[in-house]
Order: sequence, then structure tokens, then C-alpha cells
Amino acid sequence: MDFGLKGRVAIVAAASKGLGRAAAEELAKEGCEIAICARTAADLEQTAKEMEAATGRPVFWRAVDVTKPEAVSAFVDAVDKKFGRVDICVTNAGGPPSKKFADLSLDEWRAAVDLTLLSNVFFAREVLPRMKRNHWGRLITITSISVKQPIDGLMLSNCLRAGVAGLAKTLANEYGADGITVNNVCPGYTLTDRLGELFEKRAKDAGVTIAEIEKQSAAAVPIGRLSRPDEFAALVAFLCSERASSMNGTTIQVDGGLIKGLL
Ligand code: NAD
Repeated sequence: MDFGLKGRVAIVAAASKGLGRAAAEELAKEGCEIAICARTAADLEQTAKEMEAATGRPVFWRAVDVTKPEAVSAFVDAVDKKFGRVDICVTNAGGPPSKKFADLSLDEWRAAVDLTLLSNVFFAREVLPRMKRNHWGRLITITSISVKQPIDGLMLSNCLRAGVAGLAKTLANEYGADGITVNNVCPGYTLTDRLGELFEKRAKDAGVTIAEIEKQSAAAVPIGRLSRPDEFAALVAFLCSERASSMNGTTIQVDGGLIKGLL
């Protein structure tokens, strides 16, 4: 299937590693011009080099903290200046702390609102008017299966990612007539550093080894294993494609069947 993505300009946020990086690599393989950001320049430079070697395509990068609206604005502006437009934006950030309600301070709540909810708003405010000008755009938010089934001990993720799903669905209604689709993708247990951190905490709390938590988690997934970042990235690339032009306002999980609900 030809995804029709050659020459499209794609921003992928928080992409020095993990799911963001996998999504950027997949879009590069489909022929997109790629712009990535994360907080640390040295990590990004290394990632960009490796991605260029793997895909044969140049990667534009900037050190950006996605919780800072001015930094997001300057980054999107720089991408627009370099490539002349922005066609695709995949919003992403590191996960918020994994804690129960009683263990969270108000400062942690406020920081998580910036990181997990508002960072999506900062990007949307910058990219949607640019996409509207060209009557074509794809905005993808990365959340979690927690928007379909809250996960024990992840109060911030369970609460704030639901807001992102609501944001994406409402934007899909407001911008569909402008040739822009907005979809939300939900990773399940996917082999990245973030999952490693979550498993480490669970192992500590339960007094068992990380290997035991990994084994239990894989056993809970109908496909019998944890997912790979490239499996997640394949859905992102499809939703960004010409082929997905009628997919709008969806929230789709890539979780090996872990969510037990119907939708
Ligand atoms: P990861 O920790 O492997 O990578 C996170 C990326 O975000 C890194 O590039 C990091 O540098 C960047 N980042 C963090 N904070 C940032 C900030 N303030 N500004 C800019 N960049 C920042 O995580 P991941 O597994 O790729 O997860 C991506 C998102 O998906 C997270 O929100 C995570 O909680 C969520 N998620 C992951 C899983 C999983 O199993 N991996 C499951 C559900 C949800």
C-alpha cells in the first residue's frame, strides 16, 4: 500500500527515544521530511545521526521542553521556515510520575497538567492554523490505554490523558472540514525506557523481581508478549497517510489485545 507520504513535513515531539523516535523513523521510511524535538541536545543529535543512518533521510532537530509554550512555538516556526509548511504533527511527552492520589502533591498535579495535557494544546495551537492554510493536516496525539481502562496506581495518567482524548475528539470535529484529521493513539505495554521505569516501581512495591513483573505483564496480554515500538509506529504512519483520509476522531489502542472492553 502506498501511504502517499513522500515529501510531507512531519513534526514528532519528544522523539529522542521510545515511541516518539519509532514514529519519526517510520514516517522517515515513508519519505516524510522529519523534525524531532526533546529536551536534551546531545541525545537528540545522537538520535538524529542514528535515524539518518537507518533511513537515509536528513533529520531536523531542536532541543525543546514541550511544557514551555514559547519553546514549542519557536520550534514549529523553525520547521515552517525550513520546509515551508507543516503537514503532520505527532504530540508526545514523557510519562507523568506513577503515583496514587494520596501520594501526589499539588505541584506534581500542576506539572503533570503542563506535561501530559497542555503540551498537546501548545502544539495544536501552532500547527493547526498552518495546516488549515494548506487544507491538509494530520494531528496525532499519543496517550495510553489508560484512556480506555484506568491503570492502578497511575492517577495522573488516568486523569489527564482522558483530557487529551477529549481534546483530540473535539479538534477532529472542529477541523475536519479543513482537510485536517485528528486521532489519538494508545500504547499498551510497549518495550521502552518508560515501561522499564514502571516495571521497576511495580517490582519494588510488590517485593518481586522486574523479570517477574515482565512475565506477569506479558501473560496478561492475549498475544502473549509485550509490544514493540515499531508496531505502535506502524499505526501512527497509517493514520498520517492519505489512505486514512476518512479516519478522524478515533482513539485506537496498540496493546496486543490487553484492553478487555469492546471499543
Ligand atoms: P520514553 O521515556 O521512552 O521516552 C520519552 C521521550 O520524551 C524521550 O525522548 C524524552 O526525552 C522525551 N521527553 C520527556 N519529557 C519531555 C519534555 N518535557 N519535553 C520534551 N521531551 C520530553 O517513553 P515512551 O515509552 O516512548 O512513552 C511516550 C509516551 O507514551 C509517554 O507519555 C508514556 O507515558 C506513554 N505510554 C507509554 C507506554 C509504554 O508501554 N511504553 C504505555 C502507555 C503510555
